[in-house]
Amino acid sequence: MMQALTAGQVAEITKGSLLSGSVEGAIHAIVIDSRNILNPSGSLFVALRGAKFDGHDFIKEVFELGGRHFLVAQDFDAKLFPEATFIGVRDAHIAIQALAAYQRKLFLGPLVSITGSNGKTIVKEWLGQVLGTHFTVAKSPKSYNSQVGVPLSIFGIESQHQVAIMEAGISKPGEMAKLEKILKPNMGIFTNIGTAHEEGFASETQKLQEKIRLFENCSFIIYRKEQKMPAELLEAVFNPEKLISWSENQGADFTYTVKKEEGKSKILMMRTDLSVFTFWVPFVDEASLENIRHVITAAISLGMDNTAVQKGLDHLKAVDMRLTLKPGINQCLLIDDTYNNDLAGLKLALDFMAAQRPKNRKILILSDLLQVGEKERVYEEIGQLCNYYQIDYLIGVGAEISLVQNSFVGNSLFYPNTKLLLSQLQTDFFNNDLVLITGARSFGFEEIVNRLQQRVHGTTLEINLNALTHNYNFYKSKLHPKTKVMVMVKAFAYGGGAAEIANHLQQLKADYLAVAYTDEGIALREEGIQMPIMVLNPVQESFMHLVKQELEPVVYSLSFFRQLGIYCKTNQKHLKVHLDLDTGMHRLGFEQEALEELKRLILEFPQLEIASIYTHLVGADESEHEEFTLEQLKQFSEMVNEISQTLNYKPLIHALNSAGISRYPDHQMDMVRLGIGLYGVEVSGIFDGKLKPVSTLKTTISQIKFLKKGQTIGYGRKGIMDKDGKIATIALGYADGFDRRFSNGGGYVLINGKKAKVIGNVCMDMTMVDISDIEAKEGDEVVIYGPGISLIDLAKRIGTIPYELLTNISSRVKRVYYLD
Ligand SMILES: *Cc1c(COP(=O)(O)O)cnc(C)c1O
Repeated sequence: MMQALTAGQVAEITKGSLLSGSVEGAIHAIVIDSRNILNPSGSLFVALRGAKFDGHDFIKEVFELGGRHFLVAQDFDAKLFPEATFIGVRDAHIAIQALAAYQRKLFLGPLVSITGSNGKTIVKEWLGQVLGTHFTVAKSPKSYNSQVGVPLSIFGIESQHQVAIMEAGISKPGEMAKLEKILKPNMGIFTNIGTAHEEGFASETQKLQEKIRLFENCSFIIYRKEQKMPAELLEAVFNPEKLISWSENQGADFTYTVKKEEGKSKILMMRTDLSVFTFWVPFVDEASLENIRHVITAAISLGMDNTAVQKGLDHLKAVDMRLTLKPGINQCLLIDDTYNNDLAGLKLALDFMAAQRPKNRKILILSDLLQVGEKERVYEEIGQLCNYYQIDYLIGVGAEISLVQNSFVGNSLFYPNTKLLLSQLQTDFFNNDLVLITGARSFGFEEIVNRLQQRVHGTTLEINLNALTHNYNFYKSKLHPKTKVMVMVKAFAYGGGAAEIANHLQQLKADYLAVAYTDEGIALREEGIQMPIMVLNPVQESFMHLVKQELEPVVYSLSFFRQLGIYCKTNQKHLKVHLDLDTGMHRLGFEQEALEELKRLILEFPQLEIASIYTHLVGADESEHEEFTLEQLKQFSEMVNEISQTLNYKPLIHALNSAGISRYPDHQMDMVRLGIGLYGVEVSGIFDGKLKPVSTLKTTISQIKFLKKGQTIGYGRKGIMDKDGKIATIALGYADGFDRRFSNGGGYVLINGKKAKVIGNVCMDMTMVDISDIEAKEGDEVVIYGPGISLIDLAKRIGTIPYELLTNISSRVKRVYYLD
């Protein structure tokens, strides 16, 4: 917990004015989200105004929870809440940064700050683990590295911490200077510079110049010499005494050599004073090796010796620090956070849990926290957290965790160690529950996850919910603030899994969902999705369900309108419907000639409320169809005008799909229908590189074979070795959705970052790939679709479209969701 402040101090630090209340009140925590206020009376709620939310809208809620200290806009009417203290400021963002800068000054230990394009979070986590063998370490939670995330991270530094490690990330010019003012790092690490153009910057150089401002007051700056652009810039700007470079070649402060063996690497490091250090790390891939060399350089520079660093490295895995959602046994949903071991991380995980679909019970399996300062107080806080998040059942593991009993009101059960828990674990205890499993590395909670997760074969489709959020916000940024978004979650959300994705969209406050069939809509309702849902292709037999589940059918023909109208009239029901107008697709929909009769039916059946009117573009993705598209839009608007004459209310009008949003921004109307773009594929090509890939299809290598030139592979002997080499058989075939047209070099997969071509015919459950030039072993991960693989290219290779690749992924492939 941060150092306590009085309201008067807050006003002084933020240069704010006291609008009402007293200067005396003590503040122990600063919060910006009404959903995670633990100790309302001792917290300062900062009302931030963002693009999507305005914190001022939540003041009433916080007040009702017991919150009495608020930092608000100067013009806020404080009279509404007579017993509370309000401090008015011109800009709450600047104010929270000022508070953070103040708290930062109170921390005397070294603060290490990390920036760069990739690897920031992992370097921070690993460095935390390595330094943790020697110091008590404060880290920014997950990737809290923004203008708001950094202040929140600073507030997490506690009195017992000896070292702090904080990430810093920016998205536009001017931001790093602000972060530097708050962080005032003593040591800086520049991870690397990515090749992707980052939005918000005019050029690579500008981005880089901006990033290195983080180091302005650092005593030491760690960087890799092979990273030419940053290295040259750092060397030009900073005093050489501050710079600590590392490289594979001579001429740096630390020279490394790496020797790889079966799944691990030996790192030899030589310092300019000729002292030599040796380390073993449990991975061989280049990205991890780059990250770990930053970590080792930092740890040694902070005075740790070889043995102590190695001790930290021993516990490393190529960590999966993501919060992951997995299907569990007995209809449970598991949240796997087995990497986490601090309070800030626990809060994030509990937040994530609270955002999931409701289940039977909320069960938390939690280990002792490592390195807690005042035990009693920390476990008391954990107990309060569990109460706050309405945990029904706590299963604690470790010597100290039972201390939470002093404050936790729910049921609980405690075990001294994981082994005992596993030996006594009754799997039928779990039934349709939401289970959060979170514990320090050393407790080996992966075993518990293994026991509780649904057994399926090794192929998984991983869905990155942060990427989904990114893509959603990207499209939002292209829309007028008033334009609504309907998200197409038909066909199992383009293969991604409808319930989880719909739930996430509900959190993101999307306006509408659309499914293809009534069943899909019913399934979403049963999973607790409450948003309006449009059904593209309802059938007559489903009328009853439409009404009962408040699903809104598309009506596309006169006869269908009449049937539905009669149904609603005889049953005295009211139903929202959507009209599909055919302007050139010639699939479903009303044509011009039908409008007279349609208008008559609308008057005859007022039970059917026209919620929206839309048309679908046939070629929004390609510029060659521009003329046709504009003609479609023109015809649509004429038809809408004609129908509107009979209505005394205004339905939503919409036409654009994902490609349409990119290509025809002037035709957003009241709503857009976002589909494939949300899932990370930019089919129009206009915003290439702006979306993040959402899904990664992965499997593993089942077996490796060494073959001689001329030997053949697979059915029909279609694959032939053109020289001696080796192949891998991977656990995925056309029954999983890996198209048979990928046979014989048609497709490729990624193994340890390298492309491996398909050799021979794809089989039903297996595929063989050529790995003659790739270092790999049985059990290694194989990426089929995902970052680094363009679905558009892959689809082109076999004459199809990315839509088909995504929706073909078989339902037997396990879907796993995570936040990175
Ligand atoms: C599927 C669908 C969309 C979404 O199309 P994308 O190209 O995936 O954005 C929009 N409208 C209708 C009517 C659809 O069927």
